[in-house]
Amino acid sequence: MGKTIIISNRLPLQINISENNKVEVTPSVGGLATGLKSFHQEGDSIWIGWTGIAEEDIPAELEDEVEAEVKKQRCVPVSLTSEEIEKFYYGFSNRTIWPLFHYFMEYTEFHNEHWEAYKQVNEKYAEAVVERLNDDDVVWVHDYQLLLLPDYIRRKKPKVTIGFFNHIPFPSSEVFRTLPWREEVLKGMLGADLIGFHTYDYERHFLRSVNRILRLDINFNSVNVGNRVVRSDSFPMGIDYKKFRKAAKDHKAQPRSENSDIQKKLDYHKYVTRNTKLILSIDRLDYTKGIANRIRAFGYFLEKYPEYQEKVRLIMLAVPSRTNVPQYQLLKKEIDELVGRINGKFATINWTPIWYFYRSMPFDNLIDLYTSSNVALITPTRDGMNLVAKEYIATRTDQTGVLILSEMAGAAHELNEALIINPNNFEQIVDTIKLALEMPEEEQIRRNKLLQKRLKRYNVEKWAKDFMKSLDNTKDSKKAFK
Ligand code: UDP
Repeated sequence: MGKTIIISNRLPLQINISENNKVEVTPSVGGLATGLKSFHQEGDSIWIGWTGIAEEDIPAELEDEVEAEVKKQRCVPVSLTSEEIEKFYYGFSNRTIWPLFHYFMEYTEFHNEHWEAYKQVNEKYAEAVVERLNDDDVVWVHDYQLLLLPDYIRRKKPKVTIGFFNHIPFPSSEVFRTLPWREEVLKGMLGADLIGFHTYDYERHFLRSVNRILRLDINFNSVNVGNRVVRSDSFPMGIDYKKFRKAAKDHKAQPRSENSDIQKKLDYHKYVTRNTKLILSIDRLDYTKGIANRIRAFGYFLEKYPEYQEKVRLIMLAVPSRTNVPQYQLLKKEIDELVGRINGKFATINWTPIWYFYRSMPFDNLIDLYTSSNVALITPTRDGMNLVAKEYIATRTDQTGVLILSEMAGAAHELNEALIINPNNFEQIVDTIKLALEMPEEEQIRRNKLLQKRLKRYNVEKWAKDFMKSLDNTKDSKKAFK
């Protein structure tokens, strides 16, 4: 039995180099790292990826120390220059693949030099992997920054078992085929033995693209590529249910003494404006999340149902993201203005309709927000999965709370008991907000019971295990095929 090699663009850790050149590495506890914990910490398994710091920003005399510290976390750093980060990450990954795969064709840029950098960096990752790879190892590649990596590894190590998981949507073939480098991207992915998606729809879109663009025959969910069979399947990613549950329970049992501004706001809400209900909105500030329309819809709600003025508040957390990509800067401006306009129009001495935070929050504050909100309003125009929706449900220990969720989020396929909306249908959103605010508690509990049961069972560990099991099964069919 060989080892497992996990590869993602970023390593699951945070490196800090202080002014007096002290290197500090702390593991980050994102969903992926949690799900893969059992694989990553087994045997001599390793995780390969970028540290998050440009090569030029690591002083030469500290390079060895950084590598050694990273190694302690069973990780191997791939170093990227700032030019590579600009063209590969901010360029091809985030100005070509990201908008295209989320159906934002008007934002999609096609630059040959970004594509060249994308290939070059994928090659760099391949070299880092192959250097440490044996034939009996299992490789699991993650996400849209590394679409070419499965093929690049396969070319150097034809026999190795490779899995690939796409964490974002895969668009309809009609959209995908606009990509000038469509053949290369599909061939890159097809280097894997198993290709995973969050939903069945993404999987079908991918197979249809393979069929139309590469003219390969699809057999249910597999495709023959030369003498290999490549399978695809859907594996909806879950959350660390226990962690959110426990945090919510602890929070309820013993409210924290630390006085953060968010906590002060929530206390004010709880004790001063008792009859005001809270609607929660949390996302990275990204154009795919439908934040601007959500704010407009909230403004329209206050207009259409004026009896709710002073009775409801939108608490909105937008986490800064990709701030050097122009569309993100424009969106930030649009959101600032919209919040200002609505607060300006409706606010009274005692009530501000929108509380808006533009920053990231520590985990405890997220739990504060989840547990204090009566409704979560999640309206992306496209979203691979959307974990916030799942986290909100998991933290509702008394099983009250209403989730309003866009049908365009991958999570909507699993969370059928949520109030599902079309994010472009303004009237529907507004009426659904009213429905959510007026939903009887028994009904909320009935829905959340079912949702929680599902989220508990299909947690992130189960997701990782299911994928790895299917990947392992491809070994048997490989033998049978020969
Ligand atoms: N999150 C966070 N800090 C914050 C706000 C959110 O770490 O200040 C987390 C949140 O708990 C969730 C993730 O960020 O796990 C967002 O995942 P999601 O799938 O909803 O969206 P993505 O950002 O991956 O598009």
